[in-house]
Amino acid sequence: MIPAGFEYTKPQSLDEAVRTLADGGDDAKVIAGGQSLMPLLRLRLAYPDLLVDVGGLDELRGVRDEGDSLWIGALTTHYQITRDPLIREHCGLLAQATGTVADPAVRHRGTIGGNLSHADSAGDLPAVMLVLDATLTVRGPGGDRQVAAADFFVDYLTSALEPDEILTGIRVAKPGPGWGYRYEKFQASAQSWAIVGVAAMVRRSNGQVAEARVGLTNMGTVPVRARAVEEAAAGAAADRGALRDAAGHAADGTSPPTDLNARPDYRQHLARVLTGRALAHAAGV
Ligand SMILES: Cc1cc2nc3c(=O)[nH]c(=O)nc-3n(C[C@H](O)[C@H](O)[C@H](O)COP(=O)(O)OP(=O)(O)OC[C@H]3O[C@@H](n4cnc5c(N)ncnc54)[C@H](O)[C@@H]3O)c2cc1C
Repeated sequence: MIPAGFEYTKPQSLDEAVRTLADGGDDAKVIAGGQSLMPLLRLRLAYPDLLVDVGGLDELRGVRDEGDSLWIGALTTHYQITRDPLIREHCGLLAQATGTVADPAVRHRGTIGGNLSHADSAGDLPAVMLVLDATLTVRGPGGDRQVAAADFFVDYLTSALEPDEILTGIRVAKPGPGWGYRYEKFQASAQSWAIVGVAAMVRRSNGQVAEARVGLTNMGTVPVRARAVEEAAAGAAADRGALRDAAGHAADGTSPPTDLNARPDYRQHLARVLTGRALAHAAGV
């Protein structure tokens, strides 16, 4: 289908973009890579009067080393993230998960900021943000505010962004030594969305799991931390049997959706299996 008519503007500064967005009110929408928004416009599931293209804001692009943390600009594309040396060195989980997003064409245009702002529960990056304890920086007419990833994903396709706010960047702490990671994704076909995804990080010490973090993709309307798994894994032996036992809690308290691909009980089964694999891989066993 052809999208409904809209005005289009491409601001050259962040201040101008925020002002334009605020002036446009509820009928204005940010567009970055367009990989999620354009399909919605074509289906007329979204019909903004004004599109504010943030693609000209080069200050929101790229990755910076900030000592103990990395800053990732919201306009950094999936392709850039998978290849960035700082991300690969300090944030391998993000590089790996991003490499599973769609196909090369989408990864060349789609941005991390767009992926997170879209807040799709089937998106691969929100669960990774939870596990990394990321902080998102948001600019609105009143200035910047910081939002913890745990508070950013509010509901299906709904983030904590106000209509006049722009996500400018994401800050992730560099994990210290001893951490392993893994993103496991089960999909109906190569290059498609996750039926279920699991992001895991494990820190080993003396043959035991000192700390585990697990985030689940598409197991509810928002990404969730699998706290029961994390508690069961902490202090357990770093072997496949113990990690499989801990993974048995992966579906505890979840309410996964039903769609053409899977029923909730199948998703819960997948969550347990994939969590076991992700933990074992992250623990290096
Ligand atoms: C064929 C196909 C397959 C896909 N498969 C996957 C997949 O496997 N896994 C996955 O995670 N995703 C997948 N996606 C979705 C896609 O990768 C991302 O959601 C997309 O990259 C979003 O980034 P964008 O820059 O294109 O955002 P846009 O489409 O431009 O915007 C998306 C939404 O975010 C808002 N927005 C964008 N940037 C900002 C910002 N800086 N501040 C505030 N709001 C903003 C827009 O207003 C809009 O509501 C797929 C998409 C397609 C077309």
